[in-house]
Formats: sequence, C-alpha cells, structure tokens
Amino acid sequence: MRCGAGIDARQVNELFINIDPIQAGGRLTCDAIKAVIAYGDGYSVCDNCRKPNRLDYIAKPPIAEFHKDVASWLNMDTARVVPGARRGFQAVAHTFVQKGDPVLLTSLSHYTEFLAVEGAGGVPREIMADANHMITADATAAKIEEVKRETGRAPVLAFIDHVDYQYGNLHDVAAIIKVAHQYDIPVLYNGAYTVGILPVDGKLLGADFVVGSGHKSMAAPAPSGVLATTAEHAQKLFRTTAIEGDVTKRKFGIKEPEMMGCTLMGVTLVGMMASFPHVKERVKHFDRELAHNRCVIDALRSIDGTKILSEYPRKHTLTRVDTTGSFDRIAEIHKKRGFYLASGLTDRGVTGVIPGATKIWKFNTYGSTQKQVEYLAAAFVAIAEENGLRITR
Ligand SMILES: *Cc1c(COP(=O)(O)O)cnc(C)c1O
Repeated sequence: MRCGAGIDARQVNELFINIDPIQAGGRLTCDAIKAVIAYGDGYSVCDNCRKPNRLDYIAKPPIAEFHKDVASWLNMDTARVVPGARRGFQAVAHTFVQKGDPVLLTSLSHYTEFLAVEGAGGVPREIMADANHMITADATAAKIEEVKRETGRAPVLAFIDHVDYQYGNLHDVAAIIKVAHQYDIPVLYNGAYTVGILPVDGKLLGADFVVGSGHKSMAAPAPSGVLATTAEHAQKLFRTTAIEGDVTKRKFGIKEPEMMGCTLMGVTLVGMMASFPHVKERVKHFDRELAHNRCVIDALRSIDGTKILSEYPRKHTLTRVDTTGSFDRIAEIHKKRGFYLASGLTDRGVTGVIPGATKIWKFNTYGSTQKQVEYLAAAFVAIAEENGLRITR
C-alpha cells in the first residue's frame, strides 16, 4: 500500500515488537485509529462549536467533558490540551518567568524544558543528580540556597521530571516539591513518561502544574498533550485575552492567549479522547508492565558483562543498559560492526534499538505482552550466544 507523494504505508507496530523508548506508550489504540480516520479533516472538531467559541466548551464530540475528566483523573482543578508536553512547558514558562529570572531544572531535564525557559528569557539552574542518577530533595534545597546566594533571590519556577528520559528513574517528586514550596517556588510536574502510564495524583504530589504527553504516553497522535493546574494558578495561566483592535475595536472574548485560542482542532484531540478510557484502565496495571520489563532485564543481566544503568529493581519500563562489556566486544570483530545487534533484532522481528548502538542504549517494554517479552528475552540471549558471549543462568 502507498499513500501517494512517495509515502509508503508505515507498518512498524504491525510487523515488529517495538521497544523504541519514545514510541512504546504512544502507539494508538484501535479506537484512536478509528478516530484518526473519522476526524482527519482540518478543523473537524469545529462542526458543533457554539458560543462561547472555544475548544474546551465543545459538547459534541464530548470535548468539554474530556477536559473535566482529565483534570479530575490527574486530581487537579482544571486542564487544557496542548500540542505536546513542550507546549505545556512553554505556556507555564511564558506566564511565570520574566527576563533574567532563575528557573530550576535538573541535570536530567529534557531539552524542551530548557527551550521553554530560553523562550521566556529565564536562566536555567540545574539541580545535579546524585551518583545513582537520582534527583533528591536535599540537592534541591542546596541548589535553591546556591541560587539565592548568587542572585539574591529564589528561582521563580521549577521543572521536575517524575521519570527522567535518560535513565527512566522514578524521582521523589513529592519530597522535591515540598522543599521548593518552602521557598514559594511553584513546581511543574513533568509527566511525559508517567501521565497515561502509571497513576498520577497531582494534589497528592503537591504539583502546581501537571504536564503529560499524548503521543509519548497516552496512546494519542502527535502532537498532543495535557496541561493541568490548580484553581490558584489557572487564573494567571489561563487568563483570557485583554487586547482590542485600534480601528475595529474588536475584542476576542474568552480566548486564552497561552493557548492561542484553541489548540488541538481535530485528529490529535479526538485520537487522545478515543484512547482515554483505555489509558485510564491501563495505568491501574503498571505492575504488570514492570513484571514484563523484569523478564527482559533478567535476560540481559544473564549475558556476562551487561550492566543495567537505571535504578534496579526497575520502577519504570524505560531502561538504560550498558553493554560495553558484552555486545560491544563483538562489534569490534563482527563483519557488520556494531550494526549486528540491531540487525539481529530486526531479523527476529524486534525494532526500536538504535542501529549501531552496542555500548549504552535504551529500550522500553511498555505495552508488550507476556508472550512478546518472553520472545524478546530469548532474542537477546540468542544473539549473545550466537556470537559467543557467555550466559550465566
Ligand atoms: C518526550 C519528553 C518531553 C517532550 O514531550 P512532547 O510531548 O514531545 O513535547 C518532555 N520531557 C520529557 C522528560 C520527555 O521524555
């Protein structure tokens, strides 16, 4: 099948077990695929847009209800949909950060958090992770004190990733937020790897803002995401337009500048909505995902010289491994060089490991079935054995 314009049909998740770190949680559900077909046309959700004209008021399809559901599901007061987690960061930074303001990030922060700070003219100040690649409350306090000493004031905002993208480690956000709040620093909880994957309770964590990624973790098309906040911050963050045309004197009612009026106007939103009932259900079974992850980790650990760089035992399915002492030793002598590993996996119907990577690489077993992880575990061991690496069972 071809789509025309030189575009082939993409058949990745149909033909392979996909362990790509960023793709595992974003694969569409069957309902989302149907929604994509039904709502692909531009501005398709606007069919029944009535006064007051704004995306989050549309009743059919039930977009207004979805907004309320998302807010209560995250245990926050109000929510909006955004074109990706990054646009959530941007809206918050643009509202709460002024030029020259120090902003707390961490040594494991995602680049999009840096760009959000940059766009608002803020100055990034990173909390350093400890030797175990964990961001701690103590390190947070120390960094705030350092910023205060150097600049005479506390940071105005903090971005904290519950699960970081580098190690997939689960950081103690509640404790970090507690410390930040002692200095009156509002905290953006970055749930790019958690919202839609495991249960998230914003109020319990003390979060001022909760951001999630639709296409990374909510089985939604890209670009999509959610931004939720408390009643207190909503007034500023979701302020309505105050501008007026000088000639026409036109005003724009309840449109929100940070949302540019409306955000996801078709397939992205309806896809996210269609997956939502499935997503709400799947977060309750994260223990099953960890058990599946463990099956693959045990297999990798049985290959002599392999190290798990992420915290162990695992608390998330995104995992970073170091195979310098195992798979990489073969890369030096193999005729396919480092490509033998990814190609061995592809031959076995597994995709998502960067071609050529044999030293430090990541994988994510999220959404793989028991059968698939058993197959995956066996595939890694088979490639190792085939190339003469020792297995310790
Ligand atoms: C993927 C990721 C993002 C970006 O998410 P988008 O929805 O693509 O904007 C931000 N932060 C972290 C920690 C991520 O892993």
